[in-house]
Amino acid sequence: MTDKPLPPGLHPDTLAVRVAVGRSQYGENSEALYLTSGYVQPSAEAAARRFAGDEDGYTYGRYGNPTVSSFELRLAALEGTEAAIGTASGMSAILMMCLALLKTGDHILCSRSMFGSTIRLIGTDLARFGVSSTFVSQTDLGAWQAAVKSNTRLLFVETPTNPLTEVCDIAALADLAHNAGAMLAVDNCFATPALQRPVVFGADIIMHSGTKYLDGQGRVVAGALCASQKLVSEKFLPILKSGGMTLAPFNAWVVLKGLETLDLRMRAQSERALALALWLQDQEAVQLVHYPGLASHPQHKLAMAQQSGLGGAVLSFEVKAAEPEQARQRAFALLDAMQLVSLSTNLGDTKTLAAHPASTSHGRLTEAQRQAAGIGQGLIRIAVGLEHVDDIKTDLTRGLRQA
Ligand SMILES: *Cc1c(COP(=O)(O)O)cnc(C)c1O
Repeated sequence: MTDKPLPPGLHPDTLAVRVAVGRSQYGENSEALYLTSGYVQPSAEAAARRFAGDEDGYTYGRYGNPTVSSFELRLAALEGTEAAIGTASGMSAILMMCLALLKTGDHILCSRSMFGSTIRLIGTDLARFGVSSTFVSQTDLGAWQAAVKSNTRLLFVETPTNPLTEVCDIAALADLAHNAGAMLAVDNCFATPALQRPVVFGADIIMHSGTKYLDGQGRVVAGALCASQKLVSEKFLPILKSGGMTLAPFNAWVVLKGLETLDLRMRAQSERALALALWLQDQEAVQLVHYPGLASHPQHKLAMAQQSGLGGAVLSFEVKAAEPEQARQRAFALLDAMQLVSLSTNLGDTKTLAAHPASTSHGRLTEAQRQAAGIGQGLIRIAVGLEHVDDIKTDLTRGLRQA
């Protein structure tokens, strides 16, 4: 590799398009995609030093790849952490974090509004290995405080949450974790570093599903953890080497290029989401809109301070109905009547997506659990894309007429 080093003091916009491993001898301007599972070693001595960790250099595809390194360097630069490590998916990033930091007898404290698979992994799968967990209200700091135990090693939160966009105070939770001798991890999928840098508020680990806004165009599955160099090299990398939750070079390359437009996309999509949220509030068929950018949102002030003044690209709303069965029928009629917006439980795409959480992402919960989580039958989530906002409104109007 031959390249001039980047000058110091660059802004995030610049880092997002410039940070990568050095160019190859061919001088490519777009970062190279290194599709290789193995590496030829310069000498037997060098190979021995590399495997012993005494010398830098790639040895095997499960352990590392230059395209994956470019993605890791760029994401760490955007999050403001010393290092990052790519993983095959967002969930495998969480698995890596838990395998690296927890052992039998430890306790993990989470928000009960976390992503469904996160709750399953931590609450059910890890429990089989003797790691206990408690899930508390996203926004009730007193409940977090009361749930900390002497064996609590990790606090884990996601903000804003899916689909109700509840926002928690990262700085307050970081203090709580550190006073208890624990670490705070933040799932930053929804806000992304374009809006929110949890490390600034004291978080120790930032977890990503690269599948969502980092790629941003709905193409690949990817994940990452961002943290100190010490955590990455001493805790996470050994688990990657033995556990093999390796990010594929092609997927790393797609997300690397996605990061170049992350800031522009998040701003444009947040702008559209706010316009839609304001408009939805005034619609006859709509009962309530959940969006951190609205003054009516319970944590509006905190969200604006923590998220660079932007609400993000996800909102949800409830259709008016007298009882749950009617609410479900109306929500389904609305979703089926739309002709532009995609019916999809994914998010983080340039295409606007709509979903009915009560029958999909939260479908396995009992009605009582759903009620407790605030996921009613009339709730619809919109992950706002990059279409013209008037076209999205026109499509939603088609749906609202049916509801
Ligand atoms: C999608 C998602 C995940 C899981 O990521 P995958 O890449 O699908 O494994 C975790 N947290 C949040 C908030 C998500 O939206």
